[in-house]
Amino acid sequence: MAMAAFSIGVAALRRQLGATQAFLICDVFDPENLYGAVTRGESSVAPGAEASIEGQLESIHKGVVVTATVGAPWVGECRRCALAIGGALEVAVRERFLEGASDEDEAYPLEGEILDLFELVRDSLLLELPIAPLCRQDCKGLCVTCGADRNEGDCGCDPPMDPRWASLETLRSPDQA
Ligand SMILES: [Zn+2]
Ligand SMILES: [Zn+2]
Repeated sequence: MAMAAFSIGVAALRRQLGATQAFLICDVFDPENLYGAVTRGESSVAPGAEASIEGQLESIHKGVVVTATVGAPWVGECRRCALAIGGALEVAVRERFLEGASDEDEAYPLEGEILDLFELVRDSLLLELPIAPLCRQDCKGLCVTCGADRNEGDCGCDPPMDPRWASLETLRSPDQA
C-alpha cells in the first residue's frame, strides 16, 4: 500500500521511548483542489503549490510528539484594490499524535506505525491564511465612483460622502413622498 502524502513511518522510532528523528516532507498540498478559495477575496494556499513540514519527531508513551515548521506559499487579493497578492506562510507547531486519541485528548490520532501529518499541515496552514489582506498598509483602494485605482493617482471624482452624513441623509429622505 502506498503511503499518503505527508506520512512518515515511525516503527523504528517508536521502539525506544525518548528517541528522536529529524524529518522533512515536501509535497503538493492540495492536488485535488479541495481547499482552494471558494469566494472572491479569500486567501488560499497557492493552487498546485507544495507545502513543507520540517522538524523533529520524538517517541513518547503511546505516541509521537511533532515539533516542526509548516510552510507554503499563499495567494489572495487586496481587500481594497483587488490586486493579486501573495506571500509565504510559516507556522511553528508542536503537537502530540496518540494511539486512540479522541477529541478530548487535544491530540491527533496515530494509527499503527505510520504517522500521517496531513491534518496537522492543513490545520496549521488554513489557520494562518491572512483574512482580508492588503497589498500594502496604505493602499488607497478603488474609487467608489469611477472604479479607478486610487494608488495610481487622483481620478478627479469628488470624495465620497462621509458615511455618518450618508446615514443622516437616509433618515431625512421620506419613504412616502
Ligand atoms: Zn491594494
Ligand atoms: Zn473616480
